[in-house]
Amino acid sequence: MARLSIVKVRGDREVNGYVIACRATSEAIVIDPVEPAAKLLEQLQALRLRWIVATHGHPGHLAGKDELKARTGATTAMHVADAKMFLRSADRYLLDGEELEFGQFKLRVIHTPGHTPGSLCFLVGNHLFTGDTLLAGGIGRERPGTDLRQQLISIASRLGRLPLGTAIYPGHGSATSLENELRTNPVFQPVRS
Ligand SMILES: [Zn+2]
Ligand SMILES: [Zn+2]
Repeated sequence: MARLSIVKVRGDREVNGYVIACRATSEAIVIDPVEPAAKLLEQLQALRLRWIVATHGHPGHLAGKDELKARTGATTAMHVADAKMFLRSADRYLLDGEELEFGQFKLRVIHTPGHTPGSLCFLVGNHLFTGDTLLAGGIGRERPGTDLRQQLISIASRLGRLPLGTAIYPGHGSATSLENELRTNPVFQPVRS
């Protein structure tokens, strides 16, 4: 069984970026290219970066994208619905259900609109990266363009049905698990009553 490594990089504005890598092949993906990009590059020294993906288009979550791409040549990708927020958006636009390969692993794209129209979550094995769609104990701060009702539907229908043992890596704050969030996060309470 191939091994996966996950490193969290705390960027500006308290945004979490993640470097995930296949240990067998050293191929990696960055989820949310935060600034300063140097912090991510430090973690990428021994790795070959294949993809730079953004959970959504809010600046803190992709401010380091262009520098990281220039330094690594990796392919940038996000959902097209959020691309308009940035002038030079991405090389590739991701669709729900798509899988991005890196080494012996695949990153599955889950479209979870609500926080932004193009919000994505990413699943590798039982590791789920949720951006601002779901945080430990809550959700990301509401912004202009956030559709809270849609976000709650996305969470309940797309995330709430994943295996209980799924580990969750949010765009802000600490990691958690689906089991824990189902029990304690207010966003899951209406659907459980
Ligand atoms: Zn956001
Ligand atoms: Zn955020």
